[in-house]
Amino acid sequence: MNDFVFAPPPVVAVPVVGSSARFPVHRVYCVGRNYEDHAKEMGFTGREPPFFFVKPANTVVVVDRDNTPLPYPTLTQDYQHEVELVVAIGQGGSNISAAHALSHVYGYAVGLDMTRRDLQTEMKKQGRPWCIGKAFDHASPIGPITPAAQVGDMAQASIWLDVNGQRRQSAQVHQLIWAIPEIIEHLSKAWTLQAGDLIYTGTPAGVSKLQRGDRLHGHVDGLQDMVSTVV
Ligand code: MN
Repeated sequence: MNDFVFAPPPVVAVPVVGSSARFPVHRVYCVGRNYEDHAKEMGFTGREPPFFFVKPANTVVVVDRDNTPLPYPTLTQDYQHEVELVVAIGQGGSNISAAHALSHVYGYAVGLDMTRRDLQTEMKKQGRPWCIGKAFDHASPIGPITPAAQVGDMAQASIWLDVNGQRRQSAQVHQLIWAIPEIIEHLSKAWTLQAGDLIYTGTPAGVSKLQRGDRLHGHVDGLQDMVSTVV
């Protein structure tokens, strides 16, 4: 029955490696400062408890290996990349214990938590919300999701990002301050997780400013790479 006052927006969905079915996105959660070296480059000790922010599902942009264009956002002079391992939740719940957390994971992908750093910094300074720095259009590029059953222990994976062929960010997932099961435990105390939630788990050091024409190549061992050019 057509009882909407206008057509509802399309479901945001991410391709799944090895399947024609797509992963429908519910929410996008991000973990702040979750690698010690990045926390330090942002001026913190790296020992704070985990904290989270949320981006709308419609900030997700699917980026595959085919050099998907990524539009340079408005209002910023300091548009930055943050390469992150993304956890895709397949089974929801609240108060999920770390011991059971991985059974809630559908799969994993490479993602970018794009940031208008100048606006984020100004909002931090003024004690205002980060939305304008983090939750803008096209702010959450993601590669295809690989089902968890097809990957090994993600903690042993390497994560890196090249810009124009130069390595800018590089780490091992086991260097996360808060590991994936602990992130899910903490998050699910604050929100009821649902199938379709994406969790951007935090970025290593080396975030830097991008220009139009820059080519980004993100990688996590065992997952499909993402390649994109800023336009
Ligand atoms: Mn981030």
